[in-house]
Amino acid sequence: MAGEMKTVKADRLSEIRKLFQRNVVPTYARFDLALDHGEGSYVFDVAGKRYLDLGGGIAVCALGHANPEITDALLEQSRKLLHVSNLYFTKPQAQLAEALVRLIGPGRCFFCNSGAEANEGLYKLARKFGHDEGRYEVLTTDGSFHGRTLAGIAATGQEKVKKGFEPMMDGFRQVPFNDLDAMRAAITPQTAAILVESIQGESGITVATPEYLLGLRKLCDERRLLLLLDEVQAGHFRTGRFHGWQRVLENVSDPRSQVALGNGAAEFLPDAVSMAKSLGGGFPIGAFWVREPYADLLAAGTHATTFGGNPLGCAVALKVLEIIERDQLADNAREIGRFINGELQRLIRKFPAVLKEARGFGLMIGLEFRADAPAFGGSEKPPALQVVERLHAAGVLTIPAGTSVIRLLPALNLTRPEAMEGLRAIEAVVAELAT
Ligand SMILES: *Cc1c(COP(=O)(O)O)cnc(C)c1O
Repeated sequence: MAGEMKTVKADRLSEIRKLFQRNVVPTYARFDLALDHGEGSYVFDVAGKRYLDLGGGIAVCALGHANPEITDALLEQSRKLLHVSNLYFTKPQAQLAEALVRLIGPGRCFFCNSGAEANEGLYKLARKFGHDEGRYEVLTTDGSFHGRTLAGIAATGQEKVKKGFEPMMDGFRQVPFNDLDAMRAAITPQTAAILVESIQGESGITVATPEYLLGLRKLCDERRLLLLLDEVQAGHFRTGRFHGWQRVLENVSDPRSQVALGNGAAEFLPDAVSMAKSLGGGFPIGAFWVREPYADLLAAGTHATTFGGNPLGCAVALKVLEIIERDQLADNAREIGRFINGELQRLIRKFPAVLKEARGFGLMIGLEFRADAPAFGGSEKPPALQVVERLHAAGVLTIPAGTSVIRLLPALNLTRPEAMEGLRAIEAVVAELAT
C-alpha cells in the first residue's frame, strides 16, 4: 500500500501542495497555507502557526471551529441515523423546517446541499410559476453572485464566472443593482421573477437600499413576479437579524422614512429565499423557503435531491440555530460589528491614501482599499490579494472580494479582544502600505 504510506507522510505544506498539484483539479488559486485544525476563532496550519480566522470559511463557520456542542450533535445523530433519503420522514428535517418557518414567515422549506443548489430550486420555482403563461425569465443584477452551476453563472452578474462557458443558459438577464427604474424597464412578457442579494457579498459587500427592496416588492406585486432573495451569504443572523433584508429594513421605522417609503418595511417578505453557507456552521447544507401559496408549485416529483435534508445535516443546523439564539449571538454580531466598523472608520480617516470605505452590517464587513495607492504598484496581484497575503503573514485570515476589497465574515461568537487583535493587524498592514 505505497499510496497510503505517501499520504500518511504528507504532513508538510510543500508535500500537501504537491499532492494537490498532482491530484486536484486546479480551479482554485489557493493561498500558500495548509490548515490543520482549529479552535474557536483560531485555526492552526500544519507547521503549528496560529491564525485569527476573520473569514469564517467564507461566512460559514458561524460558531467558530471545533465547537464542542456541534461535535456532540454530530456524534449523537451519527449514532442514530446518517441518511435514509427523502423517501421517508425524519424528525430533524421536520424540526429544522419548522425553525426556519418560525424565523422567516409562513411558508415551507426544501433542503439541499449548497448555495448554488438552493438557487437552482428558486429558478425551477420561477419557471414552474410562469410556465403556463410562457414566462420563464429571471432578472438579476450586476455584481451579483449566485453560484457556479450552469444556471448559477447565467444568473450571476460577473463576466469572470461566465467566460469560457458560453453559450449562457437562456432566461437570465442582469441590470444595475440598487436601480429600481432599470429593473422596471427590463421586465418583458417573459419575465417570471426577480432575484437579488440583500447584501452583495462576492463582489465586495454592497448593501441594497431600503427603497430598493421595498420598491422591488411593490414592482413584483404589480407585475405578478416572484421576488426571490439570495441570503446564502448575508443570512443566518450574520447581520444581527436572521436575514439581511430584515437588517436593511429595520431603520425604516423612522416616521419620516415611513412617509417616504410607505409602511411596507415591517411586513416585507420575499416570495422565496435561498440559504446555505453558515446554516450548518460548517456542515454542508442548503435550503430554500417559499411563501404560501407558492410552495405547492413544486409538487411531488418536480424537484429532488438524494442527500438534501439528511438527518445529520439537519441535526447540526438545528443545534447551530439553538446556540445562536440561546447565546444571543445575533446581538453579539451586531455589537462586535459596530465596534469593528467604528475602528475601521477611524483607520479610514487616519490613512485616506490607502483606505477608501468600509461597508456592511454586523459581521459582514467589506473594507475597500484604494487600488491606486503606490504601495500596490510593486506587484502584479490585485490589491485585495496583496492585503490578504500581508494579513496572513501577520496571522489573520480574511477573504478577498472583487479586486480591492477584503471581507470580514468571522464567527458570530467573535469576542471583543479577538476583534481588537484583528484590527491591530489590519492597522499595522495599512500603516505599512501607507509609508
Ligand atoms: C456562496 C454563495 C452562493 C453559492 O453557494 P455555494 O454553496 O458555493 O454553491 C450563492 N449565492 C451567494 C450570495 C453566495 O455568497
